[in-house]
Amino acid sequence: MPESDPFETVSPTECPIERDRVLAPLTTWKVGGPALYFAEPANPSELAFCYQFAAETSVAILPLGGASNMLISDQGFPGLVIRYADKSEQEDESEASLLLRAGGRTLFARMARKISLRGWSGLEWAEGIPGTVGGAVAGNAGAYGSDTASVVSDVDVFFPKESVVRRLAPDYCGFRYRSSRFKAEGPLHGFVVRAGFQLKRENPEEVRKRIDAIRDRRKAASPSGLSCGSVFKNPEGDYAGRIIERLGLKGRTVGSAQISEVHGNYIVNLGGARSADVLALIRLMQGEAKERLGIDLEPEVRIVGDR
Ligand SMILES: Cc1cc2nc3c(=O)[nH]c(=O)nc-3n(C[C@H](O)[C@H](O)[C@H](O)COP(=O)(O)OP(=O)(O)OC[C@H]3O[C@@H](n4cnc5c(N)ncnc54)[C@H](O)[C@@H]3O)c2cc1C
Repeated sequence: MPESDPFETVSPTECPIERDRVLAPLTTWKVGGPALYFAEPANPSELAFCYQFAAETSVAILPLGGASNMLISDQGFPGLVIRYADKSEQEDESEASLLLRAGGRTLFARMARKISLRGWSGLEWAEGIPGTVGGAVAGNAGAYGSDTASVVSDVDVFFPKESVVRRLAPDYCGFRYRSSRFKAEGPLHGFVVRAGFQLKRENPEEVRKRIDAIRDRRKAASPSGLSCGSVFKNPEGDYAGRIIERLGLKGRTVGSAQISEVHGNYIVNLGGARSADVLALIRLMQGEAKERLGIDLEPEVRIVGDR
């Protein structure tokens, strides 16, 4: 818990909590069972209520953004899934820079594109990355040599023990390759409710060219179909996709899940796959990489729930 002044002290306000909400439609892989409890708090007060509910019910919490970096088991999640609902955006503009603050559920790539096309530079690389601002901060999403950490100016974090929101500098967030303190320590140590991004004014035509070039590169390199993007982190000095290709695993299927023929680090749901099919492929890829090449492949995707 950082020692900055609370930005906002929060009193719980009741928020509807559903039971047995099926999660597959909310994920980009379209797999996974139900959440025992499910809530979409609109603000920190409702979020505080959800945390209180989870404590009283003695269940774990799972923050869910766009579920574009998550594999939820077929048995689902036996706790409270919190899909924060704030999509608000505020702008603070000066001549040369813009501070854009966005709620945790704001769609990251849509926000990045919209602001880039107005000539604000810094988020072009986020073109085409699915998911939300909360998920991008927690996982330090990145592409083409940049990442969330390099453009975030501050993060508003709800701390459940003290029931406060604090505005924190990037230093606190513990950003590292595809992770942060929030992902590593879990929701009892903080929930991202909003993030600020510092952008620079540039010629809109130049920014548009860059964002269009990134869109074209992404289109050429990414498999179509239902996926979660890269399954594994790239090991130091190598690429997970190249390793899978070297192992001859591209195109391998389990059930209706397939290691993409286009990109070895993608698993696609061909239609009707189960979470267990995807997990079996993940374990196969890890096992072969370790046994035949001595390489440990670490999932970038978060694997969640009872098995
Ligand atoms: C086609 C495709 C391409 C992709 N390309 C890229 C890419 O180029 N680069 C890249 O980095 N990723 C990529 N991804 C993966 C994914 O889109 C990103 O990791 C994204 O930032 C995840 O955001 P999300 O909202 O979906 O997070 P989720 O998958 O919902 O959650 C990810 C993690 O963040 C936590 N979390 C979510 N919201 C909060 C919150 N408000 N507070 C605290 N913790 C929270 C979750 O508990 C979980 O641990 C791609 C995915 C797909 C499907």
